[in-house]
Amino acid sequence: MKVPLLDLKAQYAKIKPEVDAALIKCAESQYFILGPEVDKLEASCAEYLDCKYSLGISSGTDALLLALMAIELKPDDEVIIPTYSFFATAGVVARLNAKPVLCDNDPVTFNIDPAKIEALITPKTRAIIPVHLYGQSADMDPIMEIAKKHNLIVIEDGAQAIGTQYKDGRKLGSIGHIGCFSFFPSKNLGGFGDGGLVTTNDDALYERMKILRVHGGKPKYHHKFIGANFRIDEIQCAVLNVKLPHLDSWTKRRQENAELYTKLFIEKGLAEKEGNITFDAKNKILLPEPVYKNTGHPHYHIYNQYIIRVENRDGLKDFLTKNDIGNEIYYPIPFHLQECFQYLGHKKGDFPLAEFCADTSLAVPIYPELTTEMITYVVDKIAEFLNQ
Ligand SMILES: *Cc1c(COP(=O)(O)O)cnc(C)c1O
Repeated sequence: MKVPLLDLKAQYAKIKPEVDAALIKCAESQYFILGPEVDKLEASCAEYLDCKYSLGISSGTDALLLALMAIELKPDDEVIIPTYSFFATAGVVARLNAKPVLCDNDPVTFNIDPAKIEALITPKTRAIIPVHLYGQSADMDPIMEIAKKHNLIVIEDGAQAIGTQYKDGRKLGSIGHIGCFSFFPSKNLGGFGDGGLVTTNDDALYERMKILRVHGGKPKYHHKFIGANFRIDEIQCAVLNVKLPHLDSWTKRRQENAELYTKLFIEKGLAEKEGNITFDAKNKILLPEPVYKNTGHPHYHIYNQYIIRVENRDGLKDFLTKNDIGNEIYYPIPFHLQECFQYLGHKKGDFPLAEFCADTSLAVPIYPELTTEMITYVVDKIAEFLNQ
């Protein structure tokens, strides 16, 4: 059996008539950029995410960059970020010649550890970027408290977590000052190319981001700020407008798949419970733990990825690949060990929990269209490898 990591053809097959009609409508309208489909998506996303404002942006990376430009981040300002995330979280800070200040992660959720943030604050600190990794919320209450105490801006990197709820039910992107999302095709809500979104409840930040999105000109050709081209295409929004109403049912399927994995892994004796943080035997795996599941909020975790941790990760990766099971390492190298960030002066051992995750984690297929047979096959193959 072949089980890909993601199968967007299966998703497309289910919504083909709707998507095709939207694409043709787009072609006939000859609106290309920032037109009615963009307006519609922004209104729907603001409502879906419980935010006053949302703006369609060229990509998730650009959403983060725009957010930092909107808070007027200056060279040498410092931004606290997790050392364990997708590259963009750090890249945008460095591109503005500011300093990424790295923080270790919580071993259970993989998200930034709020208990380690305050020690990193200096007079130059301007912002914190918590990342809601894999689709589960970072612990926002203590982060917002620290930010308030030190007068810092919080920019949520929700690229993997559109629609996720924090433990109190609030939607991510509505808690910090600005929320950033990605419509990259492999995210839970993916377009037919690059796209992104920013959210905010702040009138002034909204106005500034809207102007910065079109080179900082308002009125046109009158520039109070230096912006860039952060615009999103109509065709992306047309597809996303079709997909958004399906998102909750896809999320539910991802959650059911995660529950089935967890159940089967425990039944097979490969894991004892969710969220262990140390290996008690060589042939065991650590399961992801949806820490806010018991809150009763439906979107406690949206499982953009289902990440297991295994001591012989590289061996398992090769074995799964040989058996036609899609898998990926998100992410093999934390920022502090990346060549381009050596100037920050870190060394191996500085952030042990991030390094542990980088060395042991492996994503297995979790997409909504997976069948019970496929999940059972993946678990059987993992068992075969670990028991050999
Ligand atoms: C995907 C992703 C981004 C960047 O989004 P793009 O749309 O690919 O530019 C940023 N942060 C995280 C955590 C991501 O997963």
